[in-house]
Amino acid sequence: MVRKLPPVDVVLVGFGWTGAILAQELTEDGLDVLAIERGGWRDTPSHFPTTVAQDELRWYWRKEMFQSAARDTLTFRNNGSQTALPMRRWGSFLPGEGVGGGGVHWNGQTWRFLPSDFLAASHNIGRYGPMPEGLTVQDYGVTYGELEPHYDRFEKLCGIGGKAGNLNGEIHEGGNPFEGPRSAEYPSPPMHMTFAQHRFEAAAKELGLKPFPGPSANMSQPYVNPLGCQLAPCTYCGFCEKYGCGNYSKASPQTTILPVLMSKPNFSLKVHNEVLRIKLDSTGSRATGVIHVDQNGEEYEQPADLVILCAYQLSNTRLMMLSGIGEIYNPATGEGLVGKNYCYQVMSGADVFFDDKYTNEFVGAGALGMCVDDYNGDNFDHSGLDFIGGGYISCWTTHNRPIERQRTPEGTPTWGSAWKKAVAENYLKSTNVGAHGASMAHAGNHLDLDPTYTDVYGRPLMRMTFDFTPNDRAMSAFLTERVREIAERMGGREIKLSPREGPYDSMPYQTTHNTGGTIMGTNPSNSVVNRYLQSWDVSNLFVMGAGVFPQNAGYNPTGTVAALAYWAADAIRAQYFKSPGALVQA
Ligand SMILES: Cc1cc2nc3c(=O)[nH]c(=O)nc-3n(C[C@H](O)[C@H](O)[C@H](O)COP(=O)(O)OP(=O)(O)OC[C@H]3O[C@@H](n4cnc5c(N)ncnc54)[C@H](O)[C@@H]3O)c2cc1C
Ligand code: SF4
Repeated sequence: MVRKLPPVDVVLVGFGWTGAILAQELTEDGLDVLAIERGGWRDTPSHFPTTVAQDELRWYWRKEMFQSAARDTLTFRNNGSQTALPMRRWGSFLPGEGVGGGGVHWNGQTWRFLPSDFLAASHNIGRYGPMPEGLTVQDYGVTYGELEPHYDRFEKLCGIGGKAGNLNGEIHEGGNPFEGPRSAEYPSPPMHMTFAQHRFEAAAKELGLKPFPGPSANMSQPYVNPLGCQLAPCTYCGFCEKYGCGNYSKASPQTTILPVLMSKPNFSLKVHNEVLRIKLDSTGSRATGVIHVDQNGEEYEQPADLVILCAYQLSNTRLMMLSGIGEIYNPATGEGLVGKNYCYQVMSGADVFFDDKYTNEFVGAGALGMCVDDYNGDNFDHSGLDFIGGGYISCWTTHNRPIERQRTPEGTPTWGSAWKKAVAENYLKSTNVGAHGASMAHAGNHLDLDPTYTDVYGRPLMRMTFDFTPNDRAMSAFLTERVREIAERMGGREIKLSPREGPYDSMPYQTTHNTGGTIMGTNPSNSVVNRYLQSWDVSNLFVMGAGVFPQNAGYNPTGTVAALAYWAADAIRAQYFKSPGALVQA
């Protein structure tokens, strides 16, 4: 039997980055906010103090940090002619679980998208003519200018370290000259660079490119954020990406928001409770709350005036499908929108090996790097090229964790004494240059419900159909050649190129930058949510996260995910609660 609980003003489904931001913002107006999180409580002293945080086997390889794939996973196939099979073990991406979500174990590479990224369809068509065949790229319905104050807020919340390249339209040496105009400098200076970044910077300059320090949520110096939360300087421990920070040096919900939020009387948090679906009234156009289940299998109905999905792109999309909100996209007919425009990130790179120079990459941090943006978005002329979009090229020194990273030169056997010798010789003397490429929406790539496999509650798993498209491959081939040019100039003995070849493989880790499925746009015929992330079908439902991206840009997503969360929170506070209903007329 489902037990009905007392109503709240707002229920948040999931409590990672977007959940924490929404909770902090909406409780400011005195609203009663409840967050329901399927994972457990997590905090720095209890879960990743410095002596525990660096346990590679436990956190990464045994996946203690991530969603349990035994309870709930996805099925995957490259295209519609294949039968999708369950992903029994996470590989290519790592959905977060527990308080803080992916915000606990992210790297902290904190980007703003380019102004033209928000206008990907109109800008590219205006400059180059019709889209390449099959692409279903569209504009966001919100502009960079509208989001700028919200990017600024997130950067100040997190104490992002960097160097502005465009301050109020004025280009500044040493920053990214291609970025959209910023209203303020970064709140912290860039991180201290190591040997590899200096080499990358010199090589890029020799090639006439414009290198700049990557924007980092790992603290370059002590920082106190506008909520009064204190962060300590990063120790470059190298256990950042895929790990919690034991040092209070990485901006996360735990370090930037929770110390304030958890003491508010109008905020409450329920952990180890999974939301199964959004409950609708008899008209199907109004959410009455959510149904959730605890660890003992007890089901509850939580009534709420407003429901906000903050459960990460994958869970948000699946919850929409399981709740019967909107029509699921069908690539055969082009009908339906939920699950449409699933996109990812297109990565390639080159390892660089030195003979007599120590890179010592165990001294690293999640967002310690130098980057160039010359080949991102539409920062270069695509005339005569057979693709749109691009990506940034970077030299990040994130880690040399011994189980995860053993770089070996071309031709090294993959096991045995020759492999061991190559690992020993190169472990301290190598680095990597990477291309972080956009992923443009394509009619064939999508999410829907699997017809065969179910989770522990008997609900259909979500099915992912994805492969790199001709646009992705052409773009990646172009970027990989630019990677080669830089890597070859870095003065090493040799390089080893990793181009993007073959079908997308869901096993090797690439990025946890899944996007699309609940896309935003200008009207109900092209999008699931409007420009304020409000469902077109159910006006008291908002959907956060990168699922709203109509396609993925060449950057990491979280800066934009957070800016959109602040933008939506402002709309909810200033408009929705004053006059509940649709914020954009269809
Ligand atoms: C290893 C790694 C490195 C990354 N590095 C970067 C980076 O450098 N830069 C960058 O921009 N991004 C990075 N990311 C991505 C970043 O973590 C995400 O963009 C961000 O956390 C998304 O915020 P969110 O609120 O949408 O989801 P999350 O922060 O993941 O939070 C979602 C929460 O919802 C909960 N949940 C899900 N379903 C349910 C349900 N049905 N009921 C209740 N709760 C539910 C989950 O348990 C989770 O806690 C990285 C991610 C990973 C995994
Ligand atoms: S590298 Fe820095 S920010 Fe990252 S976990 Fe280590 S101390 Fe924390």
